[in-house]
Amino acid sequence: MKYRSIKGVQDILPPETFLWQFVEQTARDVFSLYGFKEIRTPILEFTELFIRSIGETTDIVEKEMYTFSDRAGRSLTMRPEGTASVVRAYIQHSLNQLPPPQKFYYMGPMFRYERPQKGRLRQFHQTGVEVFGLDAPEVDAELIEMLVVFLERVGLDGLSVEVNSIGCSSCRPGYRDRLIEYLNKGVSDLCSDCQRRYSQNPLRVLDCKVPTCKEYVKDAPVILDFLCEDCKDHFNAFQSALKKLGITYRVNPEMVRGLDYYTRTTFEVTSSALGAQNAVAAGGRYDRLVEEFGGPPTPAVGFAVGMERLIALLKEKTQMPDQCPQVTFVSIGDEAREVAFQLVSRLRKEGLRADMDLRSASVKSQMRRADKVGSPVVLIIGEEEIKRGVFKFKDMKASEEREISRDELIGFLKDFFNRDG
Ligand SMILES: [Zn+2]
Ligand SMILES: [Zn+2]
Repeated sequence: MKYRSIKGVQDILPPETFLWQFVEQTARDVFSLYGFKEIRTPILEFTELFIRSIGETTDIVEKEMYTFSDRAGRSLTMRPEGTASVVRAYIQHSLNQLPPPQKFYYMGPMFRYERPQKGRLRQFHQTGVEVFGLDAPEVDAELIEMLVVFLERVGLDGLSVEVNSIGCSSCRPGYRDRLIEYLNKGVSDLCSDCQRRYSQNPLRVLDCKVPTCKEYVKDAPVILDFLCEDCKDHFNAFQSALKKLGITYRVNPEMVRGLDYYTRTTFEVTSSALGAQNAVAAGGRYDRLVEEFGGPPTPAVGFAVGMERLIALLKEKTQMPDQCPQVTFVSIGDEAREVAFQLVSRLRKEGLRADMDLRSASVKSQMRRADKVGSPVVLIIGEEEIKRGVFKFKDMKASEEREISRDELIGFLKDFFNRDG
């Protein structure tokens, strides 16, 4: 084997790609019901964009970004997540001048230099949405509803929704100080990453997966006790909107998002489809990011779905049918081969998946191939059939044979496949 794909970067092959297409199409259908339109941003951005938005003391920026200098010596980074680019585009194209809210969705690959022993991919896919221009708590509830509808439509079971509020720039600093004080007391119990950065980014410790850190933060002060009146009102109204929409949820005061830009609402949706609880999507508000990027003050909220995780959970129970040819021609002799070649083209233009064996194979091996690729209909054509203007039609499932005249072929096939669904 001369060339192999890079570690952590994988091919997605058929028939699994059919499942991806189904999930992506369902996302497009559901998101458009809620007024979202697709935005496509580039994979490459200036490195600064991600450092400023995600935060200097996050794992992503500290160790996971694919960053390099281009030939002109500019530092570029392959996007590790979707939000920063969408915010950049929103400001760059003055989309705030359109009537609010502006609602976008995106889907595509993201890149992080993850440690391979975790089984994580370095090129992975996210489907996400962003809403700009509304701070109404109902929007946050609507987003969660849309996410749940999408996940249910693709067939994911055992969904649970967890929500939290992480406050705003007026109430979070007070909480931050108290948290630093608490962490400072037990600093020797924290992992080396957390020891190094807790004073700059204490909320990140609450997200740390290292067991000793998890143990120590169990008794840490919780943000909900520190919310200002406005944040409290927002959080309460958000929860009552969830109730009005009939969404079951749990408040998890320990859930903070690792990225620096979140404010107020954060949420996560998990599934118990494979036994353990797996997070499939997460999101939250980021009311200050647009302004920090030099845009006008613009509240915003969004989420992202981890596609590999979602596909893995669905793959267990959802078998997408492979797209085999509906009709395969088997030809006997040169003249028949020519007739078949033209008919394949004609059937395709009529919207039927038609195929023939273009090797000069024997009838027996053409039949074997038609059977192997799972073609439900085989049309056999030889000298005799050409002379009489007919085909031998073979229904492979029912093992039935009959003759069809050339003139009625297209109509007959269309009826046949309509009847079959
Ligand atoms: Zn607040
Ligand atoms: Zn830690």
